[in-house]
Amino acid sequence: MTILLNADLHCHSTVSDGTLMPEALAARAHANGVQLWALTDHDEIAGQQRAIAAAHALGLDYLTGVEVSVTFAGTTVHIVGLGFDADDAQLAAGLLATRGGRGERAQEMARQLAQVGIQDAYAGALRYVGNPELISRTHFARYLVETGVCRDTGEVFRRFLTEGKPGYVEHRWARLGDAVRWIRDAGGLAVIAHPGRYRFTPTEEYALFSEFTQHGGQGVEVVTGSHLPSEYPIYAGMAQEFGLAASRGSDFHSPDESHTDLGALPDLPGQLTPVWALLQPRILRAPRT
Ligand code: AMP
Ligand code: MN
Ligand code: MN
Ligand code: MN
Repeated sequence: MTILLNADLHCHSTVSDGTLMPEALAARAHANGVQLWALTDHDEIAGQQRAIAAAHALGLDYLTGVEVSVTFAGTTVHIVGLGFDADDAQLAAGLLATRGGRGERAQEMARQLAQVGIQDAYAGALRYVGNPELISRTHFARYLVETGVCRDTGEVFRRFLTEGKPGYVEHRWARLGDAVRWIRDAGGLAVIAHPGRYRFTPTEEYALFSEFTQHGGQGVEVVTGSHLPSEYPIYAGMAQEFGLAASRGSDFHSPDESHTDLGALPDLPGQLTPVWALLQPRILRAPRT
């Protein structure tokens, strides 16, 4: 299959921290010319059946998707899973456990924010939550923008929700090897999401790619809305060095917040193997009429 496919294999719905429902995302992807789509909500696959139905109603091919939160070298790393069996019990249990601590964490975030004068952040964030098991920093960010504390969500993260800032709560997510195993055992392909976003030293980054590959991970995001264009060639090089297939996705969350729209990305560099070449048998093809 051609590398010149408009594949968008990373985005979020109201099932995690996106603002559009799976059906609206499918329509937007289709309108933007996407030919192969995956919905990759954080730690949750409850939107998959809706996404498949909406995609197929539009004639859009689909891969199942998820973005798993992992703790690696003391940092949060995201692993995207693609093309897995959405009925797999081990994957479902792993994701349930990964989501498990979010409620407590959110309450602690609200306690810290109250100490710097921001009241009722837990209830405020909850109003933006579409899935009660999936309260995330993004929902707090929306509340702080709504109340005028910050101008946009980027400012909220800079001032409040990142390491060392009031409102940041250390959290232990899934282990790298477990996340890769859940995805692989369910028949899917594991992908390192937006590696350019982690503030790793070169040694730590090398360790992430090595361990990920040893655990059976097979892909890395190269062209993503969460990378600067200057990072595409860097991670194209890493893909080749580690023998990984390359993925492409907008990481779209919201028309108001995301600067990269669904499908609005450059093509993958030509020398790479796209993940969709390895996932051919896993693609859920739209009925051709
Ligand atoms: P959580 O899973 O609760 O830790 O929230 C992580 C989510 O916060 C990410 O998936 C992004 O959607 C969002 N996020 C993280 N950092 C930033 C940032 N600097 N600006 C805007 N959104 C961010
Ligand atoms: Mn997110
Ligand atoms: Mn991510
Ligand atoms: Mn994402």
